[in-house]
Amino acid sequence: MKLLLLGQGIAGTMLAHSLLQRGAQVHIMDGDLPGGSTLPAAGIINPVTGKRFVKTWRLDDFFPVAEECYQLLERELGIPVWLPYPILRILGSPEESNDWAARCALPDYADYVGESRDGGAWQPFIKPGISYGVIRRAARVHFPHLLGHFRKKALAEGIFQQRKIRYEDVEVLARDYDAVVFCEGFRATENPYFPNLGWQLAKGEALHIRIPGAAGIEHMLKKNTTLVPLGGDRFWVGGSYQWHYPDLLPSAGERDYILRRLEEMIIVPFEVTGHVAGVRPTVKDRRPLLGANQTFSNLFIFNGLGTKGALLAPFWAEHLADHLLKGTALDAAVDIRRFT
Ligand SMILES: Cc1cc2nc3c(=O)[nH]c(=O)nc-3n(C[C@H](O)[C@H](O)[C@H](O)COP(=O)(O)OP(=O)(O)OC[C@H]3O[C@@H](n4cnc5c(N)ncnc54)[C@H](O)[C@@H]3O)c2cc1C
Repeated sequence: MKLLLLGQGIAGTMLAHSLLQRGAQVHIMDGDLPGGSTLPAAGIINPVTGKRFVKTWRLDDFFPVAEECYQLLERELGIPVWLPYPILRILGSPEESNDWAARCALPDYADYVGESRDGGAWQPFIKPGISYGVIRRAARVHFPHLLGHFRKKALAEGIFQQRKIRYEDVEVLARDYDAVVFCEGFRATENPYFPNLGWQLAKGEALHIRIPGAAGIEHMLKKNTTLVPLGGDRFWVGGSYQWHYPDLLPSAGERDYILRRLEEMIIVPFEVTGHVAGVRPTVKDRRPLLGANQTFSNLFIFNGLGTKGALLAPFWAEHLADHLLKGTALDAAVDIRRFT
């Protein structure tokens, strides 16, 4: 089977990998358009989220697939992709502390969460909490490595083309393929083949900082915001959420917002070295979007990864690859027919 994938963010990359592994012929096109979501992201996989510290949706299904796929890509590409960094959770109030202790007592959370006596390697750099939790099975997926090296390999194999696709050209392009899959992130809101999919886009911004003396810390840090080690004394801090935004660029307002939150956590001097922005392809019901156009049955979509592309992309890429190549049914929770 011969397929064309439009877009090479984390959705297009993982789908291409799943299809190639299953022996399909794949071509990828991406126009490197502004506002993409994967490259500015930290790639955090955080199994326990929200104010109540609840396990994320179908974590026990998604986490092992993500770990296996990223580790396989790491071996194939010869670069670090899966960085198993635990998260130090600063617990700032007695309620948070109690809720955390309650989670730690639940058997089905035992693999994921625990308590920490202190702030560990972060201790000299942070305002003390009431107590500390640790999220053990967390990771950072190195998106820039993965996308960059996957593209380099695809270019060398002659299966990648840098090209912006115009929707009026799609039907002609599609004649050369058994299927075309749109993996175009937030820009799918303009896709005439897939209207009305319950979008609720969320622009996000993050800062890159240096914290002198903090080199070598291999824990992420979370309280009011999240810090992610990028190597040496460099860290990613963020991200913010904006549902209304005038443009795709980093903004002074979000920079100030992130800095305020950071200064509530960190007690040492730091230097801002970068500022990034992107638009998350978020859907109102917080579920991915997989499926086919009702008229042009060879046009498909793989999107809606929202705030959790790192965790969701590997599992749903495999699911869609099986649907495309073997005709297996799509899970109703992600099938775009839920909107019709
Ligand atoms: C600040 C920020 C922080 C985040 N942090 C995390 C995190 O820690 N963990 C996590 O799991 N998720 C995080 N996310 C969310 C995550 O990044 C998304 O879930 C994911 O990147 C979505 O990937 P995608 O491939 O669907 O879209 P994108 O990454 O946006 O990729 C779409 C691609 O399609 C291409 N394209 C679009 N239209 C066309 C066209 N017409 N022709 C050719 N090419 C086209 C674009 O150039 C782009 O490369 C974050 C997002 C942001 C913005």
